[in-house]
Amino acid sequence: MLDLNGIDTQEMKEKDRRYLWHGMSPYSEHDRPMIVASAQGAWITDSEGNRYLDAMSGLWCVNVGYGRQELAEAAYKQLATLPYYPLTQSHLPAIELAEKLNEWLEDDYVVFFSNSGSEANEVAFKIARQYQQQIGAHNRFKFISRYRAYHGSSLGALSATGQSQRKYKYEPLTNGFLHVAPPDGYRRPEGMSLEAFNRQCADEIERTIVWEGAESVAGVIMEPVITGGGVIVPEPAYLTRVEEICRKHGVLLIIDEVICGFGRSGMKFGHHNFGVKPDIVTMAKGLTSGYLPLSATAVRKDIYDAFKDPEQYGHLRHVNTFGGNPAACALALANLQVMEREGLVERSRVLGERLRAEFDELLAHPLVGDIRGFGFLFGVELVADKTTKAPAGTDVVKRIIGGCKRAGLIIGKNGDTVAGFNNVLTFSPPLSCTDEDVDFIVQTFKQAMGEVA
Ligand code: PLP
Repeated sequence: MLDLNGIDTQEMKEKDRRYLWHGMSPYSEHDRPMIVASAQGAWITDSEGNRYLDAMSGLWCVNVGYGRQELAEAAYKQLATLPYYPLTQSHLPAIELAEKLNEWLEDDYVVFFSNSGSEANEVAFKIARQYQQQIGAHNRFKFISRYRAYHGSSLGALSATGQSQRKYKYEPLTNGFLHVAPPDGYRRPEGMSLEAFNRQCADEIERTIVWEGAESVAGVIMEPVITGGGVIVPEPAYLTRVEEICRKHGVLLIIDEVICGFGRSGMKFGHHNFGVKPDIVTMAKGLTSGYLPLSATAVRKDIYDAFKDPEQYGHLRHVNTFGGNPAACALALANLQVMEREGLVERSRVLGERLRAEFDELLAHPLVGDIRGFGFLFGVELVADKTTKAPAGTDVVKRIIGGCKRAGLIIGKNGDTVAGFNNVLTFSPPLSCTDEDVDFIVQTFKQAMGEVA
């Protein structure tokens, strides 16, 4: 039977099963994958004509929403003029985008382009290690990150990741990556204030640096808010304390803005909410709103300056074929123009506040342990028992997600399977959502929660 656009969906699903390898899903779940055919605004349409509001923006990335003609046109125009040249030389879209990112970062950074968030983090690790060498700190090679954090799928970025279930069967990974506890305020020791708990978590980083020997630590990497590990929002003082610790011990602060950047947090970058000045900022996803692959590693100017000496291999010996592709850069510039013209950073904050007010009503629901938000990004932690905070079972989490999908709403699920915390429902809708879209998210989610009360 032919469906939308003359596609025989059944046949395509069989071909999908036969020829396409999907990540992160057991083989059996691909009996019936959804084939997405088109999308507009916050809504996607599958090959059978079913419409869903995509409250996860794909994989947390379609910040300006789907179907933006001007992004497609910017890429087309650039492809017709200069489709490719490596950044061993230069081209206008990359120069203009690097300048624009400097403006968005509101500080003095130099930008290195790659293709994915994982790669942006790999570049950050290489730059941090080499920088330490350049300034004579020859033994600084270790990195500290947090449990439950996700920093990517390539071996170095996976080493920084603090979710063990993603590492099984791929070890040994890269040497020198250490992990500390995340500032998960919801699960802090009873009787301890949030402030004291956050301070304790930040201080654990200092203790680790000291025990490892500060002269062996190159950098600390963290997202402003742990997103994929279950939306763990720290107290503002946590990040300022981490920055203070890094400065004190000569350790570089690398902030992973792959999800939190480009307006998601209600400010241009997540770290702007905390007033810290990272040494290195990595970004991807929202940079092109997912329309084309592109990522960036922005490095503070004074760190870049340590790479100037051409003697003794002073330059960064890292190259990639596709990073900073001209069409991807041109599209990213158009993407940032849309965000500026439509005030999407501000809109993210407004929509986030609105969603928060609506979601807070759900705190009375017997399964809702905690609701955490950061701009237009939310996590709803489901528990089986509010007193013990025992995580809700997989079955109930699946029923809620299924209930939302049947009613036309796609939401996410995150956490840490090994630690038993794969119980956080996640929301990261396009920042371009209309008021009606937000009403739809709220009503549909509340209805699905009502069905499992
Ligand atoms: N860093 C964070 C915080 C992420 O959430 C992700 C991906 O979800 C990555 C890095 C890796 O990005 P990519 O999948 O583009 O390699």
